Amino acid sequence: MKIKEVECKSVLSDTKLYGLDYSLNPYTGCGHSCAYCYAVFMKKFTGHEEDWGSFVDVKVNAPEVLDKEVRKKEKGSVLLSSVTDAYQPLEEEYEITREILEILQENGFNVSILTKNDLVLRDMDILKRFDHGSLSIGFTINFLSEGDRKLWEPGASKIDERIEALRRLEEEGIPTYVHVGPWLEGITNLEKILNRVEDYVYDFQVENLNTKRKQVIKRIIRKNYPGLEERYKKIMKNPKKHNRRLEGEIEKLRKNTEVPLQLYID
Ligand code: SF4
Repeated sequence: MKIKEVECKSVLSDTKLYGLDYSLNPYTGCGHSCAYCYAVFMKKFTGHEEDWGSFVDVKVNAPEVLDKEVRKKEKGSVLLSSVTDAYQPLEEEYEITREILEILQENGFNVSILTKNDLVLRDMDILKRFDHGSLSIGFTINFLSEGDRKLWEPGASKIDERIEALRRLEEEGIPTYVHVGPWLEGITNLEKILNRVEDYVYDFQVENLNTKRKQVIKRIIRKNYPGLEERYKKIMKNPKKHNRRLEGEIEKLRKNTEVPLQLYID
């Protein structure tokens, strides 16, 4: 992993994602190295030529910059993060997200964290200081099998660790949700995931497959799921049919659960 410490000029960016006001990315790049990650487009904007997942720029002055920005910008809701994971492995050493979280809490901003890493539990002392309704924490869970997780999300926490983190957060009264994204047809079992987590979450979100990394996805399918190769060739050619099948899956699930299900199709 190539790690570079960099200085940023601003960190709080306007966003329209999921009805939020701002997104905040303390890092560029992500050590979770997910094969389907669409944030790979960030390479173009940051001058990186290395493989996605093999570099991380650490915005070492992000807390200092944020401290000034929160005084100037209108209060609102902040997503941590949109094109990186704020709790990726390097955060254990740098603690930048921890400092950011503290600044946002002290200045009355609402926060939504979406992660694949149970490192977020380290900051329980700060998480517990947020007023009820001003914080939510989501874990991405796309499959229950560790074999699948290692293929698609090699640098992220094990699935059982994420589910245990959901349980602990829920026990502390912190609202939690699960985000399934992407739905990998023939691999992701929505019903089984929902059954494992429904006692701990107030919301269950599902997102379709973004085909921006089609070559990587096709390579993994060909090598590890040969029975799905033809199906994925068709999905890449015509994602609309795949999206309709996902809509059908969600309709079926809605009949058997009280957890609100949200579907995001881009
Ligand atoms: S955790 Fe998110 S940002 Fe990081 S590699 Fe995976 S999909 Fe990309």
